[in-house]
Amino acid sequence: MKILVANIGSTSLKWRLFDFADGERLLHKGGFEQVGDYARAIEDCLADLERSGVVTSEREIAAVGFKTVVAKGVSGCVRLDDSAVAAMEAFNQLAPAHNPAYVRGIRLFAQRLPEVPLVGLFETAFYQWAPEAAMRYAVPASWCDAGVRRWGFHGASHKFIAERSAELLGRDDVAERARRLYVDDGSTPVREPALRVVSCHLGGSSSISGIRNGVAVGNSLGMSPQSGVPHNNRVGDLDAMAFPFAIRALGLTVEEAERQLCNEGGIKGLSGVSNDVRNVWTAAQGGNAQARLALEVFVHEVRRWIGGYFAQLNGADALVFTAGIGENRSELRAAICADLDQLGVVLDANANVKVRAQEAVISAPESRVRVLVIPTNEELVVAREVKRWLDRRGSSTTKPVPQTHLSTPA
Ligand code: ADP
Repeated sequence: MKILVANIGSTSLKWRLFDFADGERLLHKGGFEQVGDYARAIEDCLADLERSGVVTSEREIAAVGFKTVVAKGVSGCVRLDDSAVAAMEAFNQLAPAHNPAYVRGIRLFAQRLPEVPLVGLFETAFYQWAPEAAMRYAVPASWCDAGVRRWGFHGASHKFIAERSAELLGRDDVAERARRLYVDDGSTPVREPALRVVSCHLGGSSSISGIRNGVAVGNSLGMSPQSGVPHNNRVGDLDAMAFPFAIRALGLTVEEAERQLCNEGGIKGLSGVSNDVRNVWTAAQGGNAQARLALEVFVHEVRRWIGGYFAQLNGADALVFTAGIGENRSELRAAICADLDQLGVVLDANANVKVRAQEAVISAPESRVRVLVIPTNEELVVAREVKRWLDRRGSSTTKPVPQTHLSTPA
């Protein structure tokens, strides 16, 4: 069974082709940057798959999977039919960098491959069992009814970390629960004591999740992927009153203020240098005070969320770093973990500096909390869920899994 996972950016198309015929295998990956004509890019992707010999015909593609972000009233792993795509479109303004591109790309895939199921694993799905108290803002009921609540994002990545960290810590029971999350509502039994993981996905956009026994208790991203810690060019958490204040004080339109918060904020806005931490680090080393401050704010905010999840989980067994910054920037990992010994976190400085984009333990032997680097694999999580979706569809005995807000696991 071959499943294509398409990663759609506003000007990029990246893909991975997985085969589940005999275990799970990555057959092919590729991509295009600076895409102007998206229909053409899809055509070229399909041609590339045939040319490489990984599919002999498009009919071999059992489904196309997408790491979809957020939709009105839809979560989980679902077929991206017209109504699901319309629900994504209805939330375009929450994720302007993601949803419009996905909506366009999915519609083009549907035109090009009308016989192939298109299936989305929503980034919000991992949080459907988080306690309601962790997902609510203190707004009037009418705002909540209109959709003003926390959703949480980066679900595919944090789910991968939930599974893999449990395996690495010798808790196959918890790994199994995390693996089966969207199949059996997260109630697969696990042993005592609870496994508590704080997962830090630090990349172009960043988020921190608390995970108990493979199930998320919350995520630093709230209603939109603009919240939580500062991102590459997006603001992160901001006092709600700052928005109307800035509009009035600076004479901005709502649209211009939105644009600035989504494109001119974050590491880029703070540093005035770049949205890429590599450049900001170099500038800071060269004495640029704004660049240094940008990194200090980032580290401060990441630590604030880590501290929050240590409290929610009553400590942690593992603190995990993943994604572009988490996997590659040992200096930032060291800054984030500095002076946390009272929380049980002691880094092995030598081990830390050697680790780039590989699985490793970077805590000292005396550290109560294991600090891990785990390269994430979001596309694999999407492909696995799409395979399950296909299996369920083919089985007359399996009940369809509810798409939103399942029961809270024990
Ligand atoms: P995205 O969220 O867009 O997928 P990434 O996870 O690739 O982004 O993270 C992008 C960030 O990670 C950038 O700020 C960049 O500085 C940093 N980064 C990515 N790859 C590397 C690398 N090989 N070495 C150092 N920093 C990296």
